[in-house]
Amino acid sequence: MSINLARRSLFRRKEQNNVVRLPWLKADLDFTEMCTRCGDCTAACPEQIIVVGDGGFPEIDFSVSECSFCKECVNHCKEDLFDLTQAQPWANKATISNSCLNLESVYCRSCAESCETEALAFNFTNTTFVSPDVVLDACNGCGACVSICPVNAILVKPNR
Ligand code: SF4
Ligand code: SF4
Ligand code: SF4
Repeated sequence: MSINLARRSLFRRKEQNNVVRLPWLKADLDFTEMCTRCGDCTAACPEQIIVVGDGGFPEIDFSVSECSFCKECVNHCKEDLFDLTQAQPWANKATISNSCLNLESVYCRSCAESCETEALAFNFTNTTFVSPDVVLDACNGCGACVSICPVNAILVKPNR
């Protein structure tokens, strides 16, 4: 299946923003050039976090659930897109916005409690009500903290 050059250019620009693609993609892969949009990864994901995004290309939606790194998407894809020898599945990291409830003096630790790698830390130097800091080396970009946040204060996006 082919799409015209103008459309590809549009998707490339979007690729530079906050779109999260599949885990274990090869470094420097031109995803929209290589993905056939067959939908096999979407159907295979047990967490149902792979959705059909712009142009029909698959992207990750952490508002539904987290990535368990099960590799079902990799195993069901027929294209040569992945490199499982990479140390990290992807370069996604969490970021916290100013909507965090603690900044409204409402106690919340939901995201930190959901984070298996303990990548969300609260630094209470002066007050109980602080928003979490992301420990970048610990965050694996799994997205578990995203849907748990009651005010949608967390975005997991490529750390470019
Ligand atoms: S690794 Fe598993 S949970 Fe993560 S996107 Fe792929 S199929 Fe879904
Ligand atoms: S994306 Fe995963 S590892 Fe990173 S802070 Fe959120 S829950 Fe923790
Ligand atoms: S879950 Fe959301 S509101 Fe609660 S501490 Fe984390 S970022 Fe703040």
